[in-house]
Amino acid sequence: MRHLPTVLIVEDEPAIAELISVNLRHSGFRPVWAMDSATAQAELDAVLPDVILLDWMLPGESGLVLAKRWRAHPRTKTVPIIMLTARGDEVDRVAGLDAGADDYIAKPFSTKEMLARIRAVLRRRAPEQDAGLVTLGELSLDASTYRVTFQGQMLKLGPTEFKLLNYLMTHAERVHSRSQLLDKVWGDHVFIEERTVDVHVKRLREALGVGAGQMVETVRGAGYRLTTQANLASLT
Ligand code: CA
Repeated sequence: MRHLPTVLIVEDEPAIAELISVNLRHSGFRPVWAMDSATAQAELDAVLPDVILLDWMLPGESGLVLAKRWRAHPRTKTVPIIMLTARGDEVDRVAGLDAGADDYIAKPFSTKEMLARIRAVLRRRAPEQDAGLVTLGELSLDASTYRVTFQGQMLKLGPTEFKLLNYLMTHAERVHSRSQLLDKVWGDHVFIEERTVDVHVKRLREALGVGAGQMVETVRGAGYRLTTQANLASLT
C-alpha cells in the first residue's frame, strides 16, 4: 500500500479543521486532527506526522509556544511545521519563522495554496538524494545521519537550516542570490518571499555559533556565500 503522508492539523475551530481535513483527504493525504495542545502532543508521542499544520491562536498554549517546544525536542525537531495565522504583518510572520516554523499560511487561505505549501515542505524535507559527508574547514555535515559538527562539536539545526547549509556546503565559495537559494533549497517558492531566505540565514548563523557562523558571508547586493575565507569586515 502506498504511504499516504500524514498531516497533523492542530486547530481549535472544528469547521476549519474539517474543511482542511476534507481537502487533504481528497488530495491523497492522511489528516489527523488535534483540537488542543494536549491532544496534539499525544498524537506526536504516538506517531510522527510528515507535516504539522499549526494554528497560531489556540486556547491555552499558543501555536508559537508549541512550535518552539517541538523544534527543541530531538524527536520532533525535523518535522516540518506550517503555521496557520490570521496575523498578516511581517513582524508576526518572522516571529513564527523564528519560533521554528518552516512556513506560514495567512488565514483566510485557499486550498490550492495550502496544498502547494505542504507539498513544498515535503519536497524540502527529502535531501536524502544528496546523502553523504561534506566537509568545509572544520565544519562537517553528514546528510545520511543528519549531523552537523564544528570542531567536533555537534550543532543543532532546524530542517530548513540543515538543507540550506547542505546546499551551501556542496556549493561553497560561490555567491548565491536569494532567488537562487529559494530555487535550490526551497524548490517551490511561488509563495515564499526572498525575505524568508534572510530569516533562515540568520537562524543558520545562530545555530552555527560564533566560530562557524562567520563562514556564512553576506555579499552586499548579491546574496550569500559559505566560505572558509570570510572577510570579517564585510559581515553584517
Ligand atoms: Ca484558532
